[in-house]
Amino acid sequence: MSTALPAQVDVIVVGGGTSGNVVAARLAEAGRNVLVLEAGPDFGPCGDPRWPADILDATRLGHSNDWGYDSGDTLDVRVSFERARAIGGCSDFNGTTQTWGHRRDYDSWAEAGLEGWATDDLLPFFEAGTKAMRVKDYRVDELTSWQRVWFDAAPAVGIPQRHNLNDLDEGPAVAPESNNIVDGIRFNTAFAYLDPVRSLPNISIVGEAHVARVLVDRVVATGVEVLWRGESHIVRAQRVVVAGGAFNSPQVLQRSGIGNPDFLRSLDIPVVQPLRGVGENLHDQPFSLMSWAGSDRMTSEMDALRAEGWAPDEQAMGKAASSFDPDVFDLHFLPYSPTHRGDVKRWSCGVSALQPVSRGYVRITSRDPEAKPVIDHRFLSDPERRDARVLAEGMAILREMASQPGIRELVGEEIHPGISAVPTFDELVHFVERNPDNYWHPVGTCPMGSADDEKSVVDARGSVHGIEGLTVADCSIMPMIPRATTAMPAVVVGERIASFLVQN
Ligand SMILES: Cc1cc2nc3c(=O)[nH]c(=O)nc-3n(C[C@H](O)[C@H](O)[C@H](O)COP(=O)(O)OP(=O)(O)OC[C@H]3O[C@@H](n4cnc5c(N)ncnc54)[C@H](O)[C@@H]3O)c2cc1C
Repeated sequence: MSTALPAQVDVIVVGGGTSGNVVAARLAEAGRNVLVLEAGPDFGPCGDPRWPADILDATRLGHSNDWGYDSGDTLDVRVSFERARAIGGCSDFNGTTQTWGHRRDYDSWAEAGLEGWATDDLLPFFEAGTKAMRVKDYRVDELTSWQRVWFDAAPAVGIPQRHNLNDLDEGPAVAPESNNIVDGIRFNTAFAYLDPVRSLPNISIVGEAHVARVLVDRVVATGVEVLWRGESHIVRAQRVVVAGGAFNSPQVLQRSGIGNPDFLRSLDIPVVQPLRGVGENLHDQPFSLMSWAGSDRMTSEMDALRAEGWAPDEQAMGKAASSFDPDVFDLHFLPYSPTHRGDVKRWSCGVSALQPVSRGYVRITSRDPEAKPVIDHRFLSDPERRDARVLAEGMAILREMASQPGIRELVGEEIHPGISAVPTFDELVHFVERNPDNYWHPVGTCPMGSADDEKSVVDARGSVHGIEGLTVADCSIMPMIPRATTAMPAVVVGERIASFLVQN
């Protein structure tokens, strides 16, 4: 580990987050001289007392050291878009659910010409990521009462019970979650990937180092300008790997003059490489959180579990199919029992539409790296209203589950949105359109594709079109989101891109 800023290295990784740490570790293991520049703090190895309690506590989502992004004026209601600004990135905040998706997700990338991204190509990386992140499955007998009630209700609506959700050939199922929790701690990618290489002489990890832009000499990336300890510094490298995540990587490129030329000129940024796709194609899986009143029995059972010391907010998850995707699945449901809202009981279950067709964008508002961007998901904006209808079908499935005999006595009356307030399917569609929310899985803002596809930003190896020595490696390069939560896919992106870079 180093806290000094070197002048020259082989590879700079911009962002010590979920994917970035995988890339950094694999390149350091391969003997490259690697510098990780992370905008937030580096709290050191696992066990270092500087790690904030909320980031370690795997029973709740993390929240400290956030980038502070939100929907701004793009929605009628302000929605927060949480993103961790610290070593580990969003693997510091997440619910530790590790899902893989479906074979069709990655095979469709390969069918679109992305060589090396078919499911069978990626399986070794899913396995390596699962091992490194120490993923294990909860057992059914470990589920809390709130989680168990949804697991028990699923067969009544035709959703079979399984031991986990990561069979890539499987359709709808409900299962205890696979998670990366070690001794109660959220085992983030800093612990999983950086800790084993921190003592190597060829890796430096520098926190509070905010990369303003990538330096490009004609068509070759030569290093970065980074803000560190109140001053601007130049660090040179043979390769720069941008791994700032789906909101931040396109901002780094835009500030570097890589993006839509008309937009860059409107901010007086000299155009280095015209790529219209930078920041476009933003999509997350639209989400809706429903709540029930609960019951005395549920309250007393959950209170007893909390008193015993382990009642995590998340533990089970379901995959369901709407009428739009009957052959695979296109919905997640996620029982969620936050216990940190004082005495206010919110017995909740979220539902998310996994294959959205609506697309939004991320755009910087200034050359200042600390200026907040505009993040407009354009949730549920597709003219056919498909995304809203899929989500409303998911809510209707949850209603059906909650009304089953033996379940409804435990779950209680629906209080949000409430059956009397929103009684019909059409009103559910209107409800989700009026109340858009995110599932924390933004992707797609620097998508992979061929150089002649003007929507794409990088090729199948993550190399930015037209610029030598510049790679993007994080959720932003996914052309289309998989039917999954995105933590393990982010790790797999890191593993896949690192394997390409090691071959160079
Ligand atoms: C609250 C929450 C809950 C979630 N729950 C789950 C879940 O249960 N399961 C699941 O699978 N997924 C979950 N996710 C999503 C998943 O964690 C993310 O999709 C994934 O971690 C993103 O990885 P990434 O590498 O693309 O970006 P990140 O992990 O965000 O990494 C980006 C890193 O780059 C740094 N950075 C950005 N810009 C710069 C710059 N200019 N200079 C230097 N550093 C920079 C950032 O600070 C950050 O550390 C959740 C996410 C959140 C926020």
